[in-house]
Amino acid sequence: MSIEKLQPFLATNYENFPKGRTIGAVVLRTTQSETIFRTEGTGEPMCSEYVQAGITDTDTISRLVMTKRKQVAPERRKGREFLRVHELLYLDPKGNSICSLNTNAPCEMCIDCFLYGFAAGGEGAQKSRVWTEDAFSVLPSTELIGDRTINAIFETGTMRDEEGKASTALNTSEYIKPGVHFLDIVTFKDLTTDELRYALGNILLTTRYGAVSSRVGRMENQILGLFGGIAELPSSLELVQGIHDQLSVEKREHPLNADALVAVTQAVISNWTNKRGISMQLSKTELDDLIADVDHHLSPDEQATFLKRLDESYESMRKVKAESKKKGKGKKQEA
Ligand SMILES: [Zn+2]
Repeated sequence: MSIEKLQPFLATNYENFPKGRTIGAVVLRTTQSETIFRTEGTGEPMCSEYVQAGITDTDTISRLVMTKRKQVAPERRKGREFLRVHELLYLDPKGNSICSLNTNAPCEMCIDCFLYGFAAGGEGAQKSRVWTEDAFSVLPSTELIGDRTINAIFETGTMRDEEGKASTALNTSEYIKPGVHFLDIVTFKDLTTDELRYALGNILLTTRYGAVSSRVGRMENQILGLFGGIAELPSSLELVQGIHDQLSVEKREHPLNADALVAVTQAVISNWTNKRGISMQLSKTELDDLIADVDHHLSPDEQATFLKRLDESYESMRKVKAESKKKGKGKKQEA
């Protein structure tokens, strides 16, 4: 089993203190429909950043950016859908509401809180053990952005209301074209085997990102490489720059041939085990095995058993928390 090969870089059980066990994943994210990643609200330009084109090619280009938040929020929501179904989200410490992402009252007890962390209003915080960074497009943003005016549609299904008045344009909107590739490095710190399954499942099963996601924002995630070690992998920016250098000039245009891109990416990451702190890479077969294992654990028949087991793995920590809260009443807790 390939997950056993990762054992040296996984925790046997959840602990409060970091021990440097690091697993890094190379994720290829491909838009399957128009997608919108804006900083805030409408009318803002698409998220992009001026960066060096390659490592050897020192030209400056603008690349599209998929920010950390745009990646993690939908992926956490995906996992939380399952937790909700199996009633594994808890009441917040004051007992007012069920753990929710968008309120200031995390339950501090559920799988999502333990794994992705929380900042509680009053006491304590939990650092996330899933580290992400901004993902960059391989090609320059100028190739990847389309533009159109979106009109409001009336209930009659037309652009005119009952009196025949034309609808006003909602906005003139930029969008990211389908078939755009982002490359991304995700780091898992001191995860248990089941936590790794859960976190990878969230990445593999999330299909909508960005704004207005019931209509646009379809995206497919593929894991192209998985590494174990004591340090983080090179950054996603370094990765796209390395790929840029290896793609021949005539290939650098939208739409990129997906197979060619995967081959170049594999070539770029294949020597990463020579880098400091990176011990091993799963082979293609081992990676396929691991993904099959994740799919199996999240399948409808297995999901309940799997999530219940993962949930129970925090039971002793919950007791410690409850105890220290009792003791801490009336006096300040030592950190
Ligand atoms: Zn929670």
